[in-house]
Amino acid sequence: MNRQRFQVIAVASLLAVLGAVVPLVISLRLSWSQSVAQQQQQLHTLALRALQRTGSTLADIRATLDALNALQAAPCSREHVARMRALVVEASPVLEAGYFDGGRLVCNSWGRNERPLIPAAPAFTTADGLDVALGIRPMINPQTPMMAFRSGRYDVLVPPSSLADIVIAEHVAVLLTSHGKVVATLHHPEAELAERLDGLPAAGLTERSVYALARQGEWTAVATAPRSDLAAGFRHLAWLLVPAGAGVAALLVAAVVLLSRRRLSPLGELKRAVRRREFLVHYQPVIDMRDGVCVGAEALVRWRREDGTLVSPDNFIPLAEQSGLIMPITDQVIERVVHDLNRALVADRTLHIAINLCAADLQSGRVLDVIARTLEHTGIQTAQIWLEATERGFMDHHAALQTIGRARAQGHMVAIDDFGTGYSSLKYLQHLPLDALKIDKSFVDPLDDEKDACAITSHIIDIARTLGLSTVAEGVETERQAQRLRAQGVEYAQGWLFSRPLPADAFLDYVRENRRRYPPPAG
Ligand code: C2E
Ligand code: CA
Ligand code: CA
Repeated sequence: MNRQRFQVIAVASLLAVLGAVVPLVISLRLSWSQSVAQQQQQLHTLALRALQRTGSTLADIRATLDALNALQAAPCSREHVARMRALVVEASPVLEAGYFDGGRLVCNSWGRNERPLIPAAPAFTTADGLDVALGIRPMINPQTPMMAFRSGRYDVLVPPSSLADIVIAEHVAVLLTSHGKVVATLHHPEAELAERLDGLPAAGLTERSVYALARQGEWTAVATAPRSDLAAGFRHLAWLLVPAGAGVAALLVAAVVLLSRRRLSPLGELKRAVRRREFLVHYQPVIDMRDGVCVGAEALVRWRREDGTLVSPDNFIPLAEQSGLIMPITDQVIERVVHDLNRALVADRTLHIAINLCAADLQSGRVLDVIARTLEHTGIQTAQIWLEATERGFMDHHAALQTIGRARAQGHMVAIDDFGTGYSSLKYLQHLPLDALKIDKSFVDPLDDEKDACAITSHIIDIARTLGLSTVAEGVETERQAQRLRAQGVEYAQGWLFSRPLPADAFLDYVRENRRRYPPPAG
């Protein structure tokens, strides 16, 4: 596996894992935060109900105290005590009423105090002026601490629970405070909550509980439930949200798999290579057989992959032709040639570069405009750019004829490539306005045979001569082949005997060395 494939697979796997995990984690987190929010909403409602209860109980207490203060009977007389008791019985939360004289409790709704009591100091005063003392032990039933509310000469004792007395489930607890003091509790709320109440937000979570609070004036009610309560709500929501998360996860994973497969497909890789301009050009010198002078080169495309490996055209040109990617590749080759050899071509007008055209290029003629545009302002002459067209390009004879005509009108030389290997019929070949014929390597190979030269090769050379075309032999590897080609009048050749295809710099060195060996005739 090459490094690039490995990277794609590694990145895709990572994305797939993220794609699978992230939606699930999000759906679980959502389930959790939703279940917390729902629970807090319910607790807030309970806290509000507790405060309503506080309000109505305080109103009852205020009314009872007003009625007591309005009594006309002689203090602590039988009648006075009886009236007090009647009012106590009438007001539901009140258990006992007391009458003060000279700062001492002298009698209450049960009778006269033999030893008058000094009342407990008030813990706070309510907004409408009632002094409130906490933890008072009544004469009857002293085990249960009471609250005392005092106004004028009277006070009333009230069980603290009556201020927050609402119906709640066993595991829920309520805490009521005023002026920083815990006034009443239902079902044992968490003790630390009461201590930290001042700075608490309206709803939250502690280590053990979930809570929500409501405030009204000086009163604050907090409703709490154990954290374990959240589990049920969480499970319920998770049943709804996790399948949705799993669905999203499956979609994301499928998308990653699909995209990475597309990216890893040969076509996906080739598309990317075109986008990233990963093509470069090697130049194979073309030699004049008569004097050994290098007259130019054939531009042969190479795909340099990200990891530096060079891919030969046979491995991607067929796919590029099928998919239409060959056109942008041809464009990149043209740009490359100009970029690599602009100076050399301007300095030496005898040099030419042959560019391979694909069938589509030949049929549309589009490539001629691309070349014309690219050569603008470079100083390179159109005659220095040869075009090689294979027989496949001539299938649409009419279009090929037009493009070749235009190419020659612009000044290009046009050669037929791989001649003899395709479908071309001699009949229409003679109507194509060509300049040169390239003798395919498969007809050059047999020339190395010790005994006989290949008859077809001679035949092809004859055809070229008859049609008035120059000949270029391809794939010349041995001196024997070169000699036989030369003997038959072939003018140009390229092949490993002279040079392999070279990177631009090496090709320029080759030309320099060739010019030193075969100096051009003076003048
Ligand atoms: P081609 O146009 O027939 O190019 C000649 C091929 O023969 C080149 O292969 C060249 O490296 C190879 N060759 C040259 N001399 C010798 C030799 O002495 N011995 C042997 N064994 N081989 C030799 P390459 O570079 O692999 O190109 C293969 C084919 O890819 C080319 O065949 C051409 O049809 C196509 N091609 C190359 N560049 C382009 C391009 O820019 N555009 C298009 N459309 N096709 C291209
Ligand atoms: Ca060629
Ligand atoms: Ca060829």
